[in-house]
Amino acid sequence: MDQIILYGADWCPDCQRAKSYLKEHNIKYQFVDVDLDKEATAKVEKINNGKRIIPTVIVNEKSYTNPDNPNLASVLGINENILKTVRLYGADWCPDCRRAKSYLNDNGIKYQFIDVDEHDWATEEVERINNGKRIIPTVIINGEPYTNPDNQELKELLEIDEAQEHKVYDTIIIGGGAAGLTTAIYAQRDRFDTLILEKKNIGGNAFLTEKIENYPGFNEISGPDLMQKMEEQAKVYGATIKTGEDVKEINKKEGQFYITTKGNEYIGKSVVLATGSTYRKLGIPNEEELIGSGIHFCATCDGAFYRDREVIVIGGGNSALEEGIFLAGFCKKVKIINRSSEFKASKTYIEKLPEIENITTYIDKSSVAFEADEKGLFKGVRVKDNKTGEEELITADGAFIFIGLIPNTETFKGVVGLNERGFIQTKGLAETTTTGVFAAGDCREGAIAQVAAATGEGVLASYGVRAYLK
Ligand SMILES: Cc1cc2nc3c(=O)[nH]c(=O)nc-3n(C[C@H](O)[C@H](O)[C@H](O)COP(=O)(O)OP(=O)(O)OC[C@H]3O[C@@H](n4cnc5c(N)ncnc54)[C@H](O)[C@@H]3O)c2cc1C
Repeated sequence: MDQIILYGADWCPDCQRAKSYLKEHNIKYQFVDVDLDKEATAKVEKINNGKRIIPTVIVNEKSYTNPDNPNLASVLGINENILKTVRLYGADWCPDCRRAKSYLNDNGIKYQFIDVDEHDWATEEVERINNGKRIIPTVIINGEPYTNPDNQELKELLEIDEAQEHKVYDTIIIGGGAAGLTTAIYAQRDRFDTLILEKKNIGGNAFLTEKIENYPGFNEISGPDLMQKMEEQAKVYGATIKTGEDVKEINKKEGQFYITTKGNEYIGKSVVLATGSTYRKLGIPNEEELIGSGIHFCATCDGAFYRDREVIVIGGGNSALEEGIFLAGFCKKVKIINRSSEFKASKTYIEKLPEIENITTYIDKSSVAFEADEKGLFKGVRVKDNKTGEEELITADGAFIFIGLIPNTETFKGVVGLNERGFIQTKGLAETTTTGVFAAGDCREGAIAQVAAATGEGVLASYGVRAYLK
């Protein structure tokens, strides 16, 4: 067996990269920290003609100065062909990573998962691939990188052969959040054959919430825990769940609904629209360019990138303050910018703010433009004082925007009646303007936008479905 010694230091990114590479390939090696061993430093300098270059790797007494991964592979005879086929850079907390992993697992595709939280070199690799943006999952297939590919793209790239279905479901629910899952639990208990089509992964917006303190029955529960329980319950009663299915079209023919996703068609006797809402953007300069590499909309998803760093939170409602308080738990500083002179959030959150030392609030300031440094990295947001008109740059390492929601109903224009803001109009038992189509949760006009309310609406929609099918 090869005798391998790696001279390096904990703070050195290339040493970490080389160590991770050896670990990934189950190669045993001896790590010598040059910071703790003067003899080792002298040895490194001797090998490198007086220069302290790390990592310096010794393989069977032959030295290699800062070898890159292909170099290590060739020296150690690693056959990368198998592992190279599919490599997924991601993190456990990232919903799209979980979605991609389950899709690969469900279809028996072997892949190598590299956790960017554990390997700094992997984060750097992700940023290199995505022009400086930290977007995960980034998937490498046969050496080619793909940024956050959806299931359809994975299916095409990996030539996965999914059996097409021609079954007619009693009801098809579009959206796997609190509203959709509750409808499924009730419909399935009524013995209706139920299918949930979800474009991302099950759980909806509640899944992205760190802590839920207002869902009856739990003083406190994490969003993922609550939503996994709902998913399990829907499955226990026999609901079929398909993720990665982005519904593009609904057509009614001879009393049946034909639902088209990117690559499939499903047939249902009735439909429940439970597609929720999406984060609103500010629409100011540099926002689009910096999304993913400094600007985010989900603290649970991306907050971990900013541990011990400074962040800006834009918004003044419940979500902004809740997520700001969550970020303050591990970020060095949180700067909350509110356009109005008062926060619109509930008193519980407003009263908590002064107690948290690392939160600073900026009131009555409109965001004018995001700014980046000469390397294109996020620098801060320029704000204008609404009273004085004075502008200032508020700096941080990243920003989180929480300024409201837009209903995910674009696809349903012309299928059901929408109000002027795009929310689905309903009456009675969650009935839309089209017979046989129901709507529940945050996509519906007048929705309270709370998990408990969404579940209640799911119940209502299931009663509508029951009455219709009978
Ligand atoms: C940051 C944040 C914090 C929150 N905190 C709380 C809290 O503490 N307590 C509380 O009660 N509520 C909270 N909420 C609100 C709560 O999450 C929502 O009210 C709830 O998730 C609404 O459920 P829903 O099923 O209607 O929609 P969603 O949860 O939005 O689910 C809709 C689902 O439909 C899918 N979808 C959309 N379009 C399509 C399509 N074309 N095809 C297939 N699938 C599609 C989406 O991917 C999504 O999974 C919070 C929300 C946010 C954003």
